[in-house]
Amino acid sequence: MFRQMRRKKQLLPREISEDILQNSSTGILGVLGDEGYPYTVPVNYVYENNAIYFHCAKAGHKLDAIKKDNKVSFCVIDKEQIVPEEFTTYFRSVVAFGKAVEITEDDEKLRVMRLLNYKYAPGLDEAGEKEIRREWSILCVLKIQVEHLTGKEAVELVKKRI
Ligand SMILES: Cc1cc2nc3c(=O)[nH]c(=O)nc-3n(C[C@H](O)[C@H](O)[C@H](O)COP(=O)(O)OP(=O)(O)OC[C@H]3O[C@@H](n4cnc5c(N)ncnc54)[C@H](O)[C@@H]3O)c2cc1C
Repeated sequence: MFRQMRRKKQLLPREISEDILQNSSTGILGVLGDEGYPYTVPVNYVYENNAIYFHCAKAGHKLDAIKKDNKVSFCVIDKEQIVPEEFTTYFRSVVAFGKAVEITEDDEKLRVMRLLNYKYAPGLDEAGEKEIRREWSILCVLKIQVEHLTGKEAVELVKKRI
């Protein structure tokens, strides 16, 4: 049911799309917000084995939206080089679709929080553990099981890569 990319030659190989997800720091989560208005919001995340994980507070717009309908999208921009003289942008980005579920098992929640710390605060293991303990009761950890993933790059970058 997911759409095919119209400009197929700009489709990135799966492994490059996964590299982008692994190496980028911010993704834009898209949810079905209030009264049919789509709600997009930036979050930090980790990507592992076809799943995107992020943490948030136990209340708020995005969580309410996910509770109502857990279908989400997630977009990451890897490159955005504006080229004024060509009236274009040399871009590379990834879009994922999937369903978000809250992780309720403590062991898995802790594992994901450690993955986030490892990615965003490398070398600060002890302080990271303390922070997890401090925030634990107000933390919500979500997993997006990716169902469809595409990466796309500007046609000018395709020429350079191939
Ligand atoms: C680079 C970056 C990384 C972030 N990483 C995380 C993360 O890992 N986890 C996390 O929970 N949050 C993260 N945030 C904050 C996140 O974007 C939200 O502000 C936060 O999660 C609260 O979302 P909510 O829907 O619960 O907010 P609510 O306060 O319930 O949202 C109510 C309304 O506030 C407005 N709003 C909320 N967030 C933003 C925003 N970021 N910018 C502008 N308007 C906003 C919207 O109009 C929204 O409808 C990050 C933000 C940035 C910029």
